[in-house]
Amino acid sequence: MCGIVGMTSPENIVTGQTADQLSVLEYRGYDSWGLACLTEDTLAVVKDTGSIGKALREGRLSGLPDASLALGHTRWATHGGVTAANAHPHLSYDRAVAVVHNGVIENHQQLRRDLEASGVTFASDTDSEVAAHLIARHLEHGASMRDAIAATTATLSGEYALAVISVTEPATVWGAKHKSPLVVAFDGQRGILASDQMALDGISNDVLFLDDGDIVAVRADSAEVYAAVHGSVQPVTRAFTRLTGRQERADKGQYPHWMIKEIHETPTAVTAASSLPAERFASVLPPDRAVTLIGAGSAFYVASMGQYLLKSLAGIRASALPSDEAEYLAVLGPGDPLIAVSQSGETFDTLEICRTALAAGAVLTSICNVPSSTQERLATHRLPQGSGPEICVLSTKSIVSQVVLLARLALETGRANRTLSAERYAAHQESLERLPDTLTEFIATASTSVQALAAKYSHVGDWFFLGRGILYPAACESALKFKEVNYHHAEGMASGFFKHGTISLIDEHFYTVALLPSHTDDPDRYAATLAAVSEIAARKGPVIGIGPADLPADDLNTFVEYLPLPYHGDEIADLIIQLVAGQLLAYYCALDLGREIDQPRSLAKSVTVR
Ligand code: GLU
Repeated sequence: MCGIVGMTSPENIVTGQTADQLSVLEYRGYDSWGLACLTEDTLAVVKDTGSIGKALREGRLSGLPDASLALGHTRWATHGGVTAANAHPHLSYDRAVAVVHNGVIENHQQLRRDLEASGVTFASDTDSEVAAHLIARHLEHGASMRDAIAATTATLSGEYALAVISVTEPATVWGAKHKSPLVVAFDGQRGILASDQMALDGISNDVLFLDDGDIVAVRADSAEVYAAVHGSVQPVTRAFTRLTGRQERADKGQYPHWMIKEIHETPTAVTAASSLPAERFASVLPPDRAVTLIGAGSAFYVASMGQYLLKSLAGIRASALPSDEAEYLAVLGPGDPLIAVSQSGETFDTLEICRTALAAGAVLTSICNVPSSTQERLATHRLPQGSGPEICVLSTKSIVSQVVLLARLALETGRANRTLSAERYAAHQESLERLPDTLTEFIATASTSVQALAAKYSHVGDWFFLGRGILYPAACESALKFKEVNYHHAEGMASGFFKHGTISLIDEHFYTVALLPSHTDDPDRYAATLAAVSEIAARKGPVIGIGPADLPADDLNTFVEYLPLPYHGDEIADLIIQLVAGQLLAYYCALDLGREIDQPRSLAKSVTVR
């Protein structure tokens, strides 16, 4: 989850540059940061809690000398509290080795006990620190860096990307990986090892992705990769990948937060996802097989929307599973289609299922926003989002783009298998074409009314978000967004499920947001949703309605507030307009509450740990 950058150059230039590249990775974890660099034959370390961006702005790194070898880390704590001592890099007992780590070392307690029994004193509570001491111990016994790292990783269980520098090799950044990504690039002056291709922005488009089990020695102008071959560690060749369609580094412009900027970019993201050629969707789904979709967090709710779209537009049985539970539920064999949804393409839980499914012969389709991510590289079919960089930790334009791609997959499949008539197909296409304009106008005009709602209700601590049919996962997604950034309790629920128990929580303090379908296009679903709203209102629960602009006047009385939406009368467009409304509500409530909108507490953008 963390960000890693290691850099080496013949010149004394890399300390500041490592910090700069690391700040690009801040979205991967921002509870603490740290840098180590080698001067003469000493490792200097600076680390603290907070974000690297803030540390840079405050000039906190000025105390570190410029050097030709440096290592940096932004942390998302898994083991050990958010303290300066637990921030990476971790030094070995003899200060000869500095290590940064992404992932979880599952057997760290045993390794720590053994090291402590041999006299090592630990400086942190992390699982990661064991790696520094183990490498140092092997070096002390005469091993080379390569062999010390190989011997160390052989004893680790769990997942890791490790970057290591040592006084014994002043020109080399070492790396090793198992299940967490590591990537290498050069720019003629520097060699760089990073956890994420984003950190190589402005350095090179030719990058070397390491495989699981690889150990790498990165020098200023070359890298040697080693892997275990027939039980011994030997040099191996890994090809460079040319990154195309790379995301530009984004600029916040006149917006106060990335979140609202990215909500404003939703129309462009819809246009990008709508312009992927129709042929790209053609052979993705075999005619007679059930489809499994996976995703984590918001991407799971997108996958859940996908199952409704595939059923209604293409007559396909699809099940969405949260990636973290899919290992217990997914049944995937040779030829079975699996669709993985992930903004970053590096979501650990999702990649785990992808790998297991591929080993069983399943056919993987990737929906993701980062070209050449691990998920894209694993996949047979790629449906790239092309939404541009998304910096805010909360996913906004990106999940809308994922919905558009799944909708288009359902439309193209429905057209091919004749579930969808030519007229219905054309009507959906026409609506999709109009959608960017609708959204642009909606975002511009609705912001004031949503802000007014926020001013009145942002303090409310308990919320339900209800929806029926495809608006059920939309309600779950809007509730997730709301709790992520507002830190208020918000639960998404199917409106029909509500009366089977949950309704006992309702009183005048428990608020509900009801997502309503069009009453003219879908009268039955509308009536069923409204029935739940009436049952809540009857128990004095205040309900805020979000739905069609032309709501019957009598029904309006059921709500304490009503936010009208510019529905198209089209399942896909109306869903997306609802999602954007939910994002605006989350944003303006968080603004009212003065929350850390782009980097809410405890979150990180790409969750690369189990
Ligand atoms: N498990 C390590 C820690 O808690 C690394 C976490 C990360 O990947 O940021 O320090």
